[in-house]
Amino acid sequence: MKRIAILGSTGSIGVNTLDVIRHAPSRFEVVALAAGKNTTLLKEQIDEFRPAVAAVIDEPCAGQLGAMLGRSNGTEIRFGMDGYREVAAFAEADMVVSAMAGSAGLIPTLEAVAAGKDVALANKETMVMAGSIVVRMAEEKGVAILPVDSEHSAIFQCLAGNRHQDIRRLILTASGGPFLKFSKDDLVHVTPAQALKHPKWEMGRKITIDSASMMNKGLEIIEARWLFNVDYDAIHVQIHPQSIIHSMVEYIDGSVVAQMGCPDMRIPIAYALSYPERHPCPAPALNLLEAGALEFLEADWDRFPNLRLAYEAGRAGGTMTAVLNGANEMAVEAFLAGKIRFTDMTAVIESVLAKHRCNVSPTIDAVLAADMWAKKEVIRIIEELKI
Ligand code: NDP
Repeated sequence: MKRIAILGSTGSIGVNTLDVIRHAPSRFEVVALAAGKNTTLLKEQIDEFRPAVAAVIDEPCAGQLGAMLGRSNGTEIRFGMDGYREVAAFAEADMVVSAMAGSAGLIPTLEAVAAGKDVALANKETMVMAGSIVVRMAEEKGVAILPVDSEHSAIFQCLAGNRHQDIRRLILTASGGPFLKFSKDDLVHVTPAQALKHPKWEMGRKITIDSASMMNKGLEIIEARWLFNVDYDAIHVQIHPQSIIHSMVEYIDGSVVAQMGCPDMRIPIAYALSYPERHPCPAPALNLLEAGALEFLEADWDRFPNLRLAYEAGRAGGTMTAVLNGANEMAVEAFLAGKIRFTDMTAVIESVLAKHRCNVSPTIDAVLAADMWAKKEVIRIIEELKI
């Protein structure tokens, strides 16, 4: 029996993780849950899975949850960063699923690693902001970081049984999102509602916007660099609209190993939870006879310059990737709030990156300061320019 704590249980990844666990009650037990503000869904999850502890974002949410659960409930309720840290380091947990949205996931995920917990990592922002720190700490603590992101899970599977020095390149696939065929001019006028309609994946709002702008792929490039210890020159992106091949590894002998499956996050989640074993998963099986033709296209850096920004920030290293991430997070919020246009997101992020004085060997405090600085810069630019 593997005992699981979930950070971000009320989100898309959290709900899918609980579904995987629901279908394998003899293998997994939920011991701790953390959510943000969705106390209604968290209450349902507590009623079903009976964790020992659950945390929410603040005291009012904790009060609300407590009132909904009543006195007889055995789950301890916590709140705020202390509560999230407690869930992440919960003594009874063998593995922590890191699935909060955005930079909020960094500190709880680091706490899990520091506590020696294996981490099933969905929160790519953790690696983007502080990849070098996380990797070093995981090595020191003997902790496994198991990718949940479908592309990274695919690469992880394609690497199994092969030598690192035999890798020629990693090929991250991308669906291309809802705007694959839009011109540069069309992109200026797309609305949040259009950007939130992803053709292949059901995901949270922030990652759905990132997918539409290709920043998601940019963040994944940086995530791959840290998870698999490869140079940026050896990480490539190809558009694959069908989302059947989730990524590939090309080896020096010319062999390309690909991982395929239906676009259903329960598959990579189940693999991370059960690694190195495989177990039946509630997701549908892939039928290649029905899948039709599989297409591959070059990624268009002209229409989607976020890819270039991600490579540039990644190569600069240090705090530059935390700035990329923080600026993007704030730009996405501003776009969703109708304050800036879709294409303004890239323009704003680029000017924040250009202004940043990079600390190439940061502590975690320097990473958090860079994140905060980038977010404030975005707010300042938007206010100043009145765009
Ligand atoms: P969602 O927006 O669906 O869910 C996010 C979760 O984080 C919710 O439980 C939410 O709580 C919680 N949360 C949000 N903000 C905070 C905060 N400030 N403090 C604490 N908790 C917070 O996101 P997804 O599940 O889509 O994505 C989660 C992570 O997984 C992201 O890093 C994303 O990039 C990554 N990922 C997601 C994929 C997907 O298919 N969805 C695929 C690959 C990676 P509440 O709702 O209760 O407020």
